[in-house]
Amino acid sequence: MSPKYKLPNSKPGSKGNLSRPDCPYCGFSRCWKHATYERKGFHRPKSEHQHGTVAIQRYLCLNPPCEHTFSVLPENVLPYCRFFLDGLIGIADALADGMSAYRIAKYQWSLSLRVILRAVSQIKNTVTPWLAKLYQEATGTIKTGFQALTQAVLKTICCYR
Ligand SMILES: [Zn+2]
Repeated sequence: MSPKYKLPNSKPGSKGNLSRPDCPYCGFSRCWKHATYERKGFHRPKSEHQHGTVAIQRYLCLNPPCEHTFSVLPENVLPYCRFFLDGLIGIADALADGMSAYRIAKYQWSLSLRVILRAVSQIKNTVTPWLAKLYQEATGTIKTGFQALTQAVLKTICCYR
């Protein structure tokens, strides 16, 4: 994972303070909010009429020799993925319920089958290993499986649900 992206509260045992992340470059704990930028083009399911744009907070490290700026992604936003985490969970749940990728693409998302198949491949090859690493860093134990991992990670790290 690039040091530009850091999930909040990923330190062991930390319930953390979302507004004060440590610098991912030097570990310094005093970082100031430094504007936001918008990440656009997220996929949203047909049933949701939200726009697919998210404001990403940037921070400035106040450690004089460092002074890097960095972004902190909201809990539901994954690095390099145009689906929100809950969208990927929805796709994984639908597949586990026996729905075909074709039906998910057509009826839940109005996207091409190719995009859904790519999401399925991202779940397996990118997101699951990333969650496994986060979970292991936070708890020191190993867990496998996308659905088990998302539940565990959200419960132990993000306080998201
Ligand atoms: Zn720094």
